[in-house]
Amino acid sequence: MADEAIRTHIAPLATELRPLEQSIGQTLRQDIFAERENPPFDRVCMDGIAIRSDALSRGVRQFRVQATQSAGTPPATLAGAESAVEVMTGAVLPRGADCVIPLEQYDLVGGVAALKEKAAGAPFHNVQRRGEDSELGVAMLASGVRLGAPEIAVVASAGLGQVQVSRQPHVVVISTGDELVEPGRPIEEHQVRRSNAYAVVAALRMRGFEQVRNDHIHDDEGILRDRLAQHLASGDLLVLSGGVSKGKFDLVPKALNDLGVREIFYEVAQRPGMPMWFGIGSRGQAVFGLPGNPVSTLICLVRYVVPALETAMGTRTNPQMRVPLAAPFQYDRPATYFLPVSIGPDSLGRPVAIAKSPNGPGDFLSLSESHGFVELPPRPVPFPEGFLADFYRW
Ligand code: AMP
Ligand code: MG
Repeated sequence: MADEAIRTHIAPLATELRPLEQSIGQTLRQDIFAERENPPFDRVCMDGIAIRSDALSRGVRQFRVQATQSAGTPPATLAGAESAVEVMTGAVLPRGADCVIPLEQYDLVGGVAALKEKAAGAPFHNVQRRGEDSELGVAMLASGVRLGAPEIAVVASAGLGQVQVSRQPHVVVISTGDELVEPGRPIEEHQVRRSNAYAVVAALRMRGFEQVRNDHIHDDEGILRDRLAQHLASGDLLVLSGGVSKGKFDLVPKALNDLGVREIFYEVAQRPGMPMWFGIGSRGQAVFGLPGNPVSTLICLVRYVVPALETAMGTRTNPQMRVPLAAPFQYDRPATYFLPVSIGPDSLGRPVAIAKSPNGPGDFLSLSESHGFVELPPRPVPFPEGFLADFYRW
């Protein structure tokens, strides 16, 4: 339900034109059509000689090599039935020729290719026919695809030097809490290292989000309101960690309300991460108030914030992968449960989810070297070994 509420409130980001090389990992926002047929011409696919196959049926076994034609040159014209053009892989099939004899199948002496006994040919032997893979104008990529290596190759093959991709969202990661101390600074016994913002930034950067800033704000109503106002002015999406529970210094929901960020929901029936807050700013900015416990923060980020960013970018995603539990699992409350796991091979090498249960939502050490988490619905409890659960990667 939280997913649906988020998705319906996320505004699509504008597009921008980027050079191909700067489009790697971006979300394509146009359809790509074939510039030409593929192959675009009858293409030689062996190094050898191009001849007429009917000469073979008439018993011709020696061919005078009239020219050499490499890939990228216009096609030569075969002089006659006893002539051949030496051709390289990727060359256009010479005019008048219809087959290619590979170079292992003849001896070339004094400009004459003498076929060995095993050499045989037939029309379009060792030739890929024009249009055999795809037709002109065929839809090759649809808007929404992420441009990985194969997709970049397709865009390049369509002849486009630049493409429309989604603009990158400006994400502001904000940690809150008076107890938090920056890594690299001295720390007192009553203080806590500020680790969440780093984890959140890491998860976003590793997914290719380029415009990620981060800030830390103390638990002070006035300061919180001022700084959040600044971030709301410049960001498309704000991820806050901490300050969303019901304690005296959990000031985030009120500050956001004061700033005109409309609350869409507060609290979700899930463990960990129950006190999560979500709202929409006056310019359509999505604002996530994630609970500050490190396990909750990272799980909620991956489970809700990342999909929201993908929705904003128009990224088409694969259906959620499901992985079987390696062992039965039980927990005591009827709420969605997020269980950190590592994905390991079972005895037959198949992927299974091995629980890496944290001691509690503050136990971020248990997460290190895990691969992500599975989502266990409120029922059936207990979950049997082999239960197929949605898997989310960190
Ligand atoms: P809160 O949601 O603000 O009540 O915080 C819940 C717990 O998470 C507290 O123990 C905080 O000290 C801890 N915490 C909050 N924010 C962070 C952070 N950025 N890094 C590490 N721990 C945090
Ligand atoms: Mg706090």
